[in-house]
Amino acid sequence: MKILIAEDDPTSRIVLASVLKKEGHEVMVMVNGAEAWDALQKPDAPSLIILDWMMPEMDGPDVVRRVRTLQPDRTPYIIMLTTKGDKADIIAGLDAGANDYLSKPFDRGELRARIEVGRRMIEMQDALIESRERQAYLATHDPLTGLPNRRSILDRLREELARSRRHGDTLAVGMFDIDHFKQVNDTYGHQAGDDVLCGLAQILRERNRVYDAIGRLGGEEFLVITPMKAAMNWISVFGRLCAMIAESNITTRAGVLSITVSIGVVCATVDSTVDEILEAADKALHRAKNEGRNRVVAYNG
Ligand code: GH3
Ligand code: MG
Ligand code: MG
Ligand code: MG
Repeated sequence: MKILIAEDDPTSRIVLASVLKKEGHEVMVMVNGAEAWDALQKPDAPSLIILDWMMPEMDGPDVVRRVRTLQPDRTPYIIMLTTKGDKADIIAGLDAGANDYLSKPFDRGELRARIEVGRRMIEMQDALIESRERQAYLATHDPLTGLPNRRSILDRLREELARSRRHGDTLAVGMFDIDHFKQVNDTYGHQAGDDVLCGLAQILRERNRVYDAIGRLGGEEFLVITPMKAAMNWISVFGRLCAMIAESNITTRAGVLSITVSIGVVCATVDSTVDEILEAADKALHRAKNEGRNRVVAYNG
């Protein structure tokens, strides 16, 4: 494990570092609190820290207090080194936010045991964070295509609407629906249909300009949000995308397929709501279907 130690006393520092190295740890050695604080602000800082109490420039508790103001999530496990038996130091160190303490001169067995406790805590914390991140990902992404799911893309639409209102930009929203997708499933099987959905998601992702947002609304329907500069012709932007999709080959387990999409496009006005945009896009999409599919129709009231 990577361990950072900060100790101003050379003898104690050398002993501690060599014991830790013998135990198989990778040791970062700092000679005072200020150095330790600098190192701890770096993104790859160790998660286990052994800090001396008394140090020049910045003492142990100072470092601890500062570290605790950093990311509340990935907070390191801190063991303070205190002079044997000094209860007041121990209490102050723990109050400052240290996780544990070790009296100097330290006992090797005790050091090993306390580091082991720290390692278990860090592993638990990492597992918790990982599981929370995984849950957050699952709640916002469609498991099949990996795109933002309905809730997530509509949240994004709400945010983009607020932003465009503030900046006076225009927002174009395209609702995509694969044409005759039921036939794809019926002819090539549901799994090949799934491959088509993933293939289309990939095309949209690749075509996506940095500031576009895409998501799967559900089934074979997708939403693309594009903030538009006033001079841009947003119908032709979606028109090119529509043509490009029709020309693409999508590899599926039933062979290479190609599909077309119909797109209903809405240009948001300053006071549009998410519901109004979805309703208008849906109407435009239906017109695109009725007019023969594989085309873009803009909502016009
Ligand atoms: P249209 O051109 O009018 O849109 O015709 P369509 O066949 O695409 O429309 P319809 O709404 O009749 O059928 C949509 C199909 O999409 C039916 C459904 O089985 C399929 N579908 C929805 N979600 C999934 C999915 O996750 N995987 C697969 N393979 N198919 C799906
Ligand atoms: Mg000291
Ligand atoms: Mg549909
Ligand atoms: Mg369809």
